[in-house]
Amino acid sequence: MKKIENYINGEYSTPIENRWIDNYNPSTGEIYSLLPNSSVTDVQMAYEAAKTAFPSWSTTSLQHRSDILAKIASLIIENLELLANAEAIDNGKPLSLATSVDIPRASSNFDFFAHAITQFASEAHESMGQNAINFTLRNPIGVVGCISPWNLPLYLFTWKIAPALAAGNTVVAKPSEITPMTAYLLGDICTKAGLPKGVLNIVHGLGNTTGQAIIEHPDIKAISFTGGTATGAHIAKTAAPMFKKLSLELGGKNPNLIFADCDYEKMLTTTLRSSFANQGQICLCGSRIFIERTIYDQFKKDFIKKTKALKIGEPLNKETNIGALVSKSHLEKVKSYIDIAEQEGGTILYGGDYITVKGYENGYYLQPTIIEVTDSNCRLTQEEIFGPVVTIMPFDTDDQALSLANNVRYGLSATIWTNNLNRSMYLAKHIQAGIIWINTWMMRDLRTPFGGVKDSGIGREGGFEALRFFTEPKNVCIHY
Ligand code: NDP
Repeated sequence: MKKIENYINGEYSTPIENRWIDNYNPSTGEIYSLLPNSSVTDVQMAYEAAKTAFPSWSTTSLQHRSDILAKIASLIIENLELLANAEAIDNGKPLSLATSVDIPRASSNFDFFAHAITQFASEAHESMGQNAINFTLRNPIGVVGCISPWNLPLYLFTWKIAPALAAGNTVVAKPSEITPMTAYLLGDICTKAGLPKGVLNIVHGLGNTTGQAIIEHPDIKAISFTGGTATGAHIAKTAAPMFKKLSLELGGKNPNLIFADCDYEKMLTTTLRSSFANQGQICLCGSRIFIERTIYDQFKKDFIKKTKALKIGEPLNKETNIGALVSKSHLEKVKSYIDIAEQEGGTILYGGDYITVKGYENGYYLQPTIIEVTDSNCRLTQEEIFGPVVTIMPFDTDDQALSLANNVRYGLSATIWTNNLNRSMYLAKHIQAGIIWINTWMMRDLRTPFGGVKDSGIGREGGFEALRFFTEPKNVCIHY
């Protein structure tokens, strides 16, 4: 059976204690590879390699660093087919999505930061009347930790690693234990691109042992984490006494506000995507849909019709719109929310059950599910389900829509569908979220700040925000 290995000091290696974890193919329910169950010693080895590599990497010329990152970007594209297949098998997502979104975006992450670092300027302040000038140095932090989730495996892994490396840090990174394959393949790509030994170290393993060893390491001074809110809170608590720098991108329960004056067809097509793309396993999915009452019945009818037309199937099949959920336990968790719909006062309008895909009877397939709710305080509308399940509910006024949008502990993103400029701007200003989309969804410009408020996290990724996170500002004052 294929064995995934750690990538430490520029080489693949087996875990020191020779312990392994089963890696499942979600479309078949079968174990198809093994990954290292890395120990504290493996993390320490990765840290030592990163520490040794730091002085040289942090002082290498900007152009050289930028060239290597750009080379990684182009090698990712050269290996698009290999990586997209690996991602689809490992995660259960449709191959078409991995090919068109996940892998190209992983390449763009490297390409973007290869260039962004060459434009990253620091401030200078002339202190008038004091004959002094202050300027800010932006030094790399040292060895940093990057921990990423399973839903967009290579996309989110590289979203952290690329800016960390661009800023001159060396990295100890852990992908999710559930989807380790493309991070494993990235090691070889980095070697081929000429990334010096020890600059990036990838350690596979469980969150509460391998991940924990990274966050507890006294000399890993910054942690960039994307994952669930509970894990984020645990990391914050662990890291606080060590005064680590933290970037936490956590859960979401995003509102999708639909007004009668919107471009209806565009809204309908996009809402289908924002509800069920990647089996609804995207932190930005608009899982709480609120619709102006005057178009509520029409929307209900059209949305159900479009959802029915989605093709659920094996991820590698080109026709598939909805693949498998990532793991058996996640499938059961998502299904358990559907099972409480009735007692929560909800009505299942469409879906609600497992699906058997011919030839893949043990895969983790679930119908896309639409639940009508009458109360925005129930568990279905308050807790992150993170699957192909949305709730729908009508509203009457703008103020009601705003208060429904904000009535949740999360604040990652929100989508507003209206052609009324004043309304959209009023809502954009008052919705408690880090990202607002008006008449679109998940349209990304990598220069923009990305992240959430409330229980969706602290800090921002993207553009110069990421480079600021991965550097330590130091003010220098010269008196003349
Ligand atoms: P988890 O929080 O379970 O895990 C995220 C990562 O943290 C994994 O690599 C996990 O390892 C690791 N981990 C778990 N426990 C620890 C620990 N004690 N110390 C260090 N690392 C640890 O999230 P999921 O993987 O289940 O991802 C889904 C969540 O991610 C959802 O809540 C989703 O909303 C959120 N997310 C947020 C995004 C954002 O940008 N805001 C984007 C995408 C997802 P392992 O898998 O091995 O347990």
